[in-house]
Amino acid sequence: MLAARVMAGMMLVAGAGCASAPSRQGDVARLDARPAAELSRIGDRVQADRLRADIEAMVGFGTRHTLSDETSPTRGVGAARRWVEAEFREISAGCGGCLEVVTPSGMFTGARLSGETRITNVVAIKRGRSDAGRVIIISGHLDSRVSDVMDAVSDAPGANDDASGVAAVIEAARILASEPLEATVVFAALTGEEQGLYGGQVLASYAKANGWRIGAVLNNDIIGNTEAYGRREASYVRVFSEGVRQFETPAMAAARVASGGEVDSPSRNLARHIRRVAESIGQLDARLIYRRDRFGRGGDQTPMQQAGYPAVRLTEAAEDYRRQHQDLRVENGVRYGDTIDGVDFDYLRRVTRLNVAVMAGLARAPAPPSGVTLSGAVSPDTKVSWTPAPGAVRYRVWRRDSTAERWTTPVDVGGGATTLTLEGVSIDDWFFGVSSVSADGHESPVAFAGPAGEFFPDIPAAAP
Ligand SMILES: [Zn+2]
Repeated sequence: MLAARVMAGMMLVAGAGCASAPSRQGDVARLDARPAAELSRIGDRVQADRLRADIEAMVGFGTRHTLSDETSPTRGVGAARRWVEAEFREISAGCGGCLEVVTPSGMFTGARLSGETRITNVVAIKRGRSDAGRVIIISGHLDSRVSDVMDAVSDAPGANDDASGVAAVIEAARILASEPLEATVVFAALTGEEQGLYGGQVLASYAKANGWRIGAVLNNDIIGNTEAYGRREASYVRVFSEGVRQFETPAMAAARVASGGEVDSPSRNLARHIRRVAESIGQLDARLIYRRDRFGRGGDQTPMQQAGYPAVRLTEAAEDYRRQHQDLRVENGVRYGDTIDGVDFDYLRRVTRLNVAVMAGLARAPAPPSGVTLSGAVSPDTKVSWTPAPGAVRYRVWRRDSTAERWTTPVDVGGGATTLTLEGVSIDDWFFGVSSVSADGHESPVAFAGPAGEFFPDIPAAAP
C-alpha cells in the first residue's frame, strides 16, 4: 500500500528510460521480482510422484472412453469420473470445504456418439475472496480412445492423452486450495473430447448459465511426452492461441478491420502472459504457436473460445503419434499405444508448475482493464484510456512495434488515473495495450486496445 501511495498522482516510466526508443524483438519484460518469486514458490509445490500416482489411477480404469461402462466400480468412464470427484472432495476436506464439486452435464447426438448421450464433467470450484465473479479455469479431458473412435471396450490407457492433463488439473487443485486468491479458480475434468469436444461445450454452457466472467482457460491436453521419432524436447511447452477471436460480432469485426487486432485476441495475449510467467519463474520455456490448435486438429479450448472466453491449449513440444489414439500393439518391432511409460514425469511436473503459477498470478492480479481505447489519429501523440479494474492500484500501458511479438516499453500509471497521453508516439506505428497491477504487484495479461482485444465482451444470453 505504501508503494501505491507514493506512486499516487505521478507517472513512472519503466524500462531503460527510453519512451520513444524502438522495441527490439528479443526484449524480455519479466514480471516484477516479488510476485515472480511468490509464483515460483507456489509452483514449486507441484510433485511429480503425485502426478504419477494420479495417472496410474486413471490408467487403472482400463478404458475411459466416453461410451464405456458407466456403472462398474472399477472399469470405464463412470468409475474414472467418480474417482476424480472423490479426489476433489478429499482435497476439499483438507481445506475446510473450500471446494464446491459439481458435475454439469448435457445431452448430445453426433456422428461419434451412439444415440443421444449424456456428457458429464467433474468440476471443482474455489470461490475467490474479493472478485469471485471472475473465473480462472484449468481443464483437461478424462476420456480416452484407441484406433477406432467408437471402440468403447478395448483398453485405452490414455496416459498422456489426456490423463496427463487431468493429473495437472487435480494437482493444481491440491495446491491452490490452500492459497489465498482474489478471483475464483475452477478445476475441470472434461469428457466427450474425443467424440466431438462435448465436454468443452458443457463447460461453456455452465459458465454462461452462471454468469462467469472468465479471465483465462488453460486447456492442458497431451502435456507429458518428451521423446518422439529420435528427438527429445523437454525444454518448452507449446501454447496455442487463436489470433482473430472466433467470437466476433459484425461490429467487432468492422472495428478490427479498421484499426487492427488480428494477432491480439485475449487468447493470444493470455498466451503472451503465460510465456512471460514462464520466463519469470524459470525451468520451462513457453513457445507461442499462432494457431488455435495443431494443424487441422481440435481441443476443448475451442468451444470456450467460440463462447467468447479467452482460452489457450498447452501441449508438449514433441508429440509421438504412435502413442495417440492407437490400439495397444507391437508392429514391426514398434510399440503403439498411450501407456504410462511414455510420460516424462519431471517434464509433466514443470508444465503443471507453470499452470499453477499462471493461475495463482491471474487470481491474485486484478482483471485486465476493459474498454481500452485509443485516440490520436492525425496528431503526433497517442492517448490511451480504459475503464478501472476492481483491485487495481496502477496500470501499465504497453506498446509493440506492429510486427513485433512482445509487448515493450511499459509505462506505469498510478493515482487512479485511467488515461495516459504518450507524447510523440505515433498511433499509426505501434500497437497499444494496458495491464492492471494489484497492490502486491501481481499483473494481469495485457488487453489490446479495441474490441478485438477486450477480455470481457458482452456475451449474449443466447448461444453465439
Ligand atoms: Zn486429447
